Formats: sequence, structure tokens, C-alpha cells
Amino acid sequence: FYFKDLIPSMMGSFPSPDAIFANNEMSLSDIEVYGFDYDYTLAFYSKDLHTMIFNIARNILIDQLRYPEELRTYEYSPNFAIRGLHYDVQTALLMKIDAFHYIQLGSVYRGLNTVPDEEVIAIYEGSHVPLEQMSDFYGKSSHGNTMKQFMDIFSLPEVTLLSCVNDYFITNNIDYEPVHLYKDVKVQFEDNFLKHFIYLFHLSCIDRYICYGEQTCAVLRKLAEHGKKMFLITNSPISFVDRGMNYIVDKDWKDLFDVIIVQADKPSFFNDRRPPFRRVNQKGVLLWDKIHQLEKGQIYKQGNLYEFLKLTGWRGSKVLYFGDHIYSDLADLTLKHGWRTGAIIPELRSEIKTMNTEEYTRVMAFLQTLTGLLEKMQVYRDTESQMLLQEWIKERQDTRELAKKVFNPQFGSIFRTNQNPTYFSRRLSRFADIYMASLSCLLNYDLHHTFYPRRTPLQHEAPFWSQLNVTV
Ligand SMILES: [Mg+2]
Repeated sequence: FYFKDLIPSMMGSFPSPDAIFANNEMSLSDIEVYGFDYDYTLAFYSKDLHTMIFNIARNILIDQLRYPEELRTYEYSPNFAIRGLHYDVQTALLMKIDAFHYIQLGSVYRGLNTVPDEEVIAIYEGSHVPLEQMSDFYGKSSHGNTMKQFMDIFSLPEVTLLSCVNDYFITNNIDYEPVHLYKDVKVQFEDNFLKHFIYLFHLSCIDRYICYGEQTCAVLRKLAEHGKKMFLITNSPISFVDRGMNYIVDKDWKDLFDVIIVQADKPSFFNDRRPPFRRVNQKGVLLWDKIHQLEKGQIYKQGNLYEFLKLTGWRGSKVLYFGDHIYSDLADLTLKHGWRTGAIIPELRSEIKTMNTEEYTRVMAFLQTLTGLLEKMQVYRDTESQMLLQEWIKERQDTRELAKKVFNPQFGSIFRTNQNPTYFSRRLSRFADIYMASLSCLLNYDLHHTFYPRRTPLQHEAPFWSQLNVTV
């Protein structure tokens, strides 16, 4: 082959949705121990589950918390929200924020309707959100930060329900307190959530909700065949995990894991040295004996990472942990403990498929050409040129809107705003060594594979827009 065949062309060569992407160079041959979160990492759930969760939470608001009966007419809309959005608890505005804390104008919603840019600018005195108002490190709204970031996949029904109830109150001109609404909905999802969920699972057939179980199983078996150690650290209780893993693997699933930890209380698990491990029996009953070692075949509850490291000796970069929650699964491991991290981002699959369409490729090529023209022609100050420039600026704005809507009509891609990477993207690139749509992507790689991040140019290393040679 010729060397030039290895040089990628600029457009129309986006990667496969089943690829694994690296932020940081990493070789699988260095990894001896693989750790996993459970929900949305080992167990992937179908959209039907979100509809069920939405309905349960909506009905509790009406039946137990005396919210208006008319709310029952709101149905779950799976394509309304995307992950990583910020919600202002006091103003009830839902928005997308970029890596520099700027609100993406045109993507701010109150209830189910967009808020005009002028209004957003008036509320925030511009479009920048100061650091003190942003959510805390884990995305929560606490200690006066009024912004909450919706980070896990389970939060999609939550944010959609909030938007529906806001919509009902606003369209009916009902005076209400957004802070109370936020708390009422939050309680359903954060505190009562597991109760509903477990109830659902005992009630219904599990295979309706878990998807791609056989692929997860194939990954675990492949790692076992290669003599890798494996462990599970999940916040879910054993009854729930056992039921799902019986379906994904079989009743002997525990044999695949060297250590199983349930109800871990992440992210505290990674930070807090206090709670010791406790053994639980199969039925979830707690035992009182002191834990001197973490044994295969046993199930442990709670504990903490410091104790875990002491008992297993699994330290540093020979450990790779997979999770879908970038903050509570991955951030502390990367920042404090030096484990390698893998983020599971299911949205990647559909976003990459969209990027591979001809329409998207064409829109992006046009956008780049237009930006190049603007950059070059701005020096002409005469009226005629300036009028033309204004037209192009407008056209660029319209084209950007088009490029946004192909991903999600309201909020666009989870990774980018018009100008910048999103807040979500920035933290993903900081906390995850590698990221992929699902665990099954590992099946496409040899266990000696090295992931090399591509060298993307820094701003001072790249040609200017107008120098890019793009053919439309
Ligand atoms: Mg999870």
C-alpha cells in the first residue's frame, strides 16, 4: 500500500459507532483488573423503561402530592431532552452550557417552549453563568448554586417531567414556586426511585427492559478467558443486580467476578474513609462479622475505596473502571486514585451515525467555507462588502441551527454548542481515558490493543479557516 492511503481525507470519514475513542493513550495489555458499574454499564435499558419511570413519578405527583389531575395528559417524549443539560432551580429554565460557562442561546427552554434570547440575556445579565451559580463538582445544586446538571441517563425522564409540569403551570397562568416543584420531582427520582424501580422489576418481565445482554456477557467471558480479574461496584442493591445479571449472564454470574460490592454509595465510596465493608447474604440481609478480606463469591455492601485498595492491592494504572456517570463513577478515580477510566456514552452511537450522513457532511463543509470567507473578507469596510458580510453572518447562523437540529431539535448534540465543546464534553475529556457507546465495543479489539488519541491541532498549530481547502 502507499503511505498516502493512510492520510485521512478531511470530510466524510467519521469513525464507526462501534469504535472506542481515547482522550489519553492507553494500552489494554497493561490492564490486569477490570471494574464495572452496573446500571447503564453492564445493564443497558430500553427506552420503554423511561416511559414507565416518567409515568410512575407523574402519577405520584398527582395522587400523593396533590398536583393537578390534568398533568396526566402529559406523555413521556423520549426526544425532548438530552443528557448534560443544566436546570436553573429558581427560574425553572433548562439550558445547554458550554465549556466556558456560556449559555447556548436558542436552546433555553421554560416548560416545553423556547425562551427568547433577549429574555435570557436580561435574566443572566448576559449569557455567562458565574462559577458560584454552577452546579457543584458532582452536578448537584447545593449551597446556593442554583444550577443542577442532569448527568445520568435516568435523569432524562426526570428533566422531561419537570418540563411538562412547568409547561402546565405556565400555559395555565398558575402561580407556583419552581423551587418546590424541583424538590418534589427530585424526591421521586433520587429518593423513591429505587423503590419504584425494584417494584417494577419484580412485577414485570426483565427482558423487556434490558438490551444487548448477550453482548455484555460476551465481553465478561472474553476478559475471563484472558485471565483478567474483574469486580463490580454499584449503588444498586443485590436483589436487583442479581435479577439483571441472571438474565445477562446466567445464575452463575458471580463466578465471573473476584469482588462484588453493592449499595456502594458512590461518589462517597471513592472519597470517604469511614464506612467499613459489610457482608450481605443472598437475600440482602446484613451480617455483622468484621471483614479482613474481600472473598470471591461473597457480596459486600458499602465500604470505601481506601479499604478496597488495601484489601485487594489493585492500585494505579493496571485497573480500568467503566461507568456511565462521568462525575460519580469516574472523576475521583481519575483525579485522586490514578485508575484508568472508561466512560459509557450510549448517545455516541446515534450521534456518529448522524455525522456520517451526507446531509451533515454537506452542512459542515458549507459552514467551514462560509466561516473562511468571513474571516478573509472582514477587512473590506465599504458599505457594499459590509452588507454582504451581514448576509453571510445570518446565513452562518441559519446553517448552524440546521447542524444543531439534526442531533436533537431542541438542544442539538450532547458534545457541542455552536461555538464550543459543551460543559459535558469538557469534563468527559478530563475524567475519561477512553469512551465508547457501549461495553460491547470492547469486542472489536484485541486485549493487547493500544488506544492512541489522534493529534488534534491546538489553535496555534492549525491553519486559519480561510486556508482550509474544502470542496463543497
Ligand atoms: Mg450507572
